[in-house]
Amino acid sequence: MMPTSTSASSSERIVIVGGGAGGLELAAKLGRVHGRERVTLVDSRPFHIWKPSLHEAAAGTLDIHQEGLSYLMLAHMNGFSFAQGRLVSVDRERRLITVDAVADPQGQEVLPRRELGYDTLVLALGSTSNFFNTPGAAEHAVTLDSTENAEQFRLTMLKAMVLVDQAKVRDPSARLDLVIVGGGATGVELAVELVEASHVVSAYGLPNFRAERDLAITLVEGAPRILSALPEKISQAATARLTELGIRVETSCRVAEVGADAVLTADGRQFPARLCMWAAGIQGPALLADLGLPLNKLGQLEVNERLETSDPHVLALGDCCAVPWRDGRSVPARAQAAHQQADYLVKKLAARLRGTPEPVEPYVYHDHGSLVSLGQDAGVGSLMGKLAGRGLFVSGTLARLMYMSLHLMHHKAVLGFSRTASLALARLLMRRTRPRVKLH
Ligand SMILES: Cc1cc2nc3c(=O)[nH]c(=O)nc-3n(C[C@H](O)[C@H](O)[C@H](O)COP(=O)(O)OP(=O)(O)OC[C@H]3O[C@@H](n4cnc5c(N)ncnc54)[C@H](O)[C@@H]3O)c2cc1C
Repeated sequence: MMPTSTSASSSERIVIVGGGAGGLELAAKLGRVHGRERVTLVDSRPFHIWKPSLHEAAAGTLDIHQEGLSYLMLAHMNGFSFAQGRLVSVDRERRLITVDAVADPQGQEVLPRRELGYDTLVLALGSTSNFFNTPGAAEHAVTLDSTENAEQFRLTMLKAMVLVDQAKVRDPSARLDLVIVGGGATGVELAVELVEASHVVSAYGLPNFRAERDLAITLVEGAPRILSALPEKISQAATARLTELGIRVETSCRVAEVGADAVLTADGRQFPARLCMWAAGIQGPALLADLGLPLNKLGQLEVNERLETSDPHVLALGDCCAVPWRDGRSVPARAQAAHQQADYLVKKLAARLRGTPEPVEPYVYHDHGSLVSLGQDAGVGSLMGKLAGRGLFVSGTLARLMYMSLHLMHHKAVLGFSRTASLALARLLMRRTRPRVKLH
């Protein structure tokens, strides 16, 4: 995958901010053809983890230190430049962005605050959790917005399990209460992953903790069913699986407040919660409000169907923007949408880099269906078929394998086929020498 130099007749510089599901694929595909002088990726972190796997990182079934792909390595392989640092401001008049200084864990500055010039800026910043102004949520709930959040949750959960294990010697009724707010794919996948992981952890060395008895997970959803954006059959299958695993599912239940040790609902109920995970919706990153560009009510950048903001030099993709879709709705915030938008922008930006006319076709979102992981060996979902536009229901191991293949396809987009195959094989072999759940 060596980058080839471009036969450019323009001096266009593309800066992509956010190396996630969409931004990284865009940088890799452009970098391979147009090279590091023309394509720069900026991310606040030094390594990349595909966001849809964060529930596995939170449960410890995926080790972030093993899984993370260094941006410098990816930049070297794919021929783009990488600048580490958090985007703090955009000067649209002078076409400059400011990237924050980077410090080591002891607070010592490693990289200074810098300015980078651009001709086209692509914002691919992803999203953050939306607490919908729920009192106490920001203070007491954890989110899965970032790798750091997932790792913090994993360590807190491990500690809580050890404490319950010890407390059981004195008090046999001691247990770990966990509430997950939001019955979308994130909440459902996390709940199942946590149950499976806690069985493994207790087997490794918590003599008094029995996951099926001492871990109480409640999944709270405001809509009448979980996975409400997906076909009803999927909700039913997922509910059956959650119930089978002992997870309590509360639907049509609105959270009114999150306290230090309980979640209170609008209808006056109270669920004990030593830990609360908030997975109930997203919004655009706060920084977007400072750009002077139109935002929707969730704080996402409003773009047209060519992914353009009202500034012709600023484009956007993925969760941080709202792309018009159908019935007045926006394209859903999903990795498959970010992936498709990156592919669309590859063609548009390649034309800018070559100095040739841009394609006139708008971006059209193709919903290929949805797959939800229900643990290491099970999944459920629907694949959108061409036949009468109807979804094909899939479940069990097949659905789980298809779900895993989505992650591999993302790897293939940034690493190429042979490296992805080597990585998959290496991980399979490493399973023999490591516990199934990260224990330290
Ligand atoms: C647990 C979980 C499970 C999911 N499962 C699925 C699924 O099964 N299928 C599906 O389609 N979608 C799923 N999603 C949604 C999916 O992850 C997102 O829609 C997708 O990652 C959005 O891609 P993106 O490129 O817009 O942003 P992201 O992938 O979130 O990437 C954003 C990048 O921007 C960087 N960044 C943010 N702010 C700054 C800044 N100020 N300066 C510099 N860099 C910055 C971040 O470090 C990050 O690398 C899931 C999400 C979660 C949390």
